[in-house]
Amino acid sequence: MIVLKGRVLDGNGGPPIEQGAVVLEGNRIRLVCRQSELPELEGTQCYTTQNATILPGLIDAHVHMGWGSATAVEWLSMTPQLSMARALRDMAQLRQQGYTAFRDLGSDVILLKPAVAEGLLDVPRIFGAGKILSQIGGHGDVYQKLSLEGSLGAYSPAFLVTGEDEVRRACRINARNGADLIKIMTTGGVFSQGDKATPHSHFSAAEIRAAVEEAENMGSYVSTHAQANRGIKMALKNGVKCIEHGFYLDEECIELMLKNDCFLVPTLAIMHASKTYFSRTPGVLPYLREKTERSYEAHYRSLEMARKAGVQVGVGCDFLGDESFGCPYSQATLELERLCAAGYTPMEVISMATKTNARLLLMEDELGTLEPGKLADVLLVSGDPGTDIQVLRQEENVKLVIQDGRIVKNGLDSQTRQ
Ligand SMILES: [Zn+2]
Repeated sequence: MIVLKGRVLDGNGGPPIEQGAVVLEGNRIRLVCRQSELPELEGTQCYTTQNATILPGLIDAHVHMGWGSATAVEWLSMTPQLSMARALRDMAQLRQQGYTAFRDLGSDVILLKPAVAEGLLDVPRIFGAGKILSQIGGHGDVYQKLSLEGSLGAYSPAFLVTGEDEVRRACRINARNGADLIKIMTTGGVFSQGDKATPHSHFSAAEIRAAVEEAENMGSYVSTHAQANRGIKMALKNGVKCIEHGFYLDEECIELMLKNDCFLVPTLAIMHASKTYFSRTPGVLPYLREKTERSYEAHYRSLEMARKAGVQVGVGCDFLGDESFGCPYSQATLELERLCAAGYTPMEVISMATKTNARLLLMEDELGTLEPGKLADVLLVSGDPGTDIQVLRQEENVKLVIQDGRIVKNGLDSQTRQ
């Protein structure tokens, strides 16, 4: 048994338990209580640290393991081997930050699940979409300067599909590969040349509904990359459960999201990293800089509407794993800071990155809060992220990472072990 002592933030967002304790037995949480209420326990290992805080393992709800810089040139030279090697680096960096699970919205990382099951890899819990579904010429059509034939033949993070049958086929290939949800793209994006930030949408209503039906047949849901208003609404009106980015929301979108119990994952961190990069890098294509800046303001306005209306908001950085672009996974907790900058309290953001994100992984009964019976994915941190979210940015503050009851990172020196 493992006993952790410190201030307990249980992930529900309520006031912390000061002088608290969390007892783990096997891969489950056995007890969450005050230290004064701890029963006599035999054979326990006890851990604490200076100004200790105990919280659920963090979950990132929007990652792409193994992508790298994600430029067209980069995609052309991509191989499955290189992508997997990068994915291993990305997952190791996430774990050092205190992430014990993630939702991957487009990459081949789900193909590593059998290796995890075989005990060959020790990584955060993988919940992934497999390849993205995009329309021809959409955001997932990463080689828009190539001929269509060239584009369809090259390594790609997306299936370029047309019509309901191709949508269903792509969903079933993903399901066959172990996908946990379906990711589609109902608008273009900041980085795809030719896409407009102004009203537009991708995929027909019938194509979107086909993806939704296939996802429901898998016992899951569809999440969409959607930035422009028309593509957000098309998705919301046709059964999509989660909007990624959501730059241009309006009242109707908010109403639909509330009515249909939908989620928004704004991914503020990648936009922040992009804006920072473009502003300090000479020679950036003007369309990129302009699109980024226009979207940036709209993004925060939309999130403000969602926050005030009480839309469920998940936490995902949407990083690429690219150090030079300012978005390596070692900085994934930038997303938590940006959400605080957007008006959420640190306690709210911690609850969103644990409890809300566990719902996005369809694991709310097992993960996301510190409650007896749940899986033991728990962090011991030095400092109080409940009052200062930046505590989590320094990975040396994340002293213990426990996943499934096992200590997978131990940054405590021997004096602080009791
Ligand atoms: Zn993404």
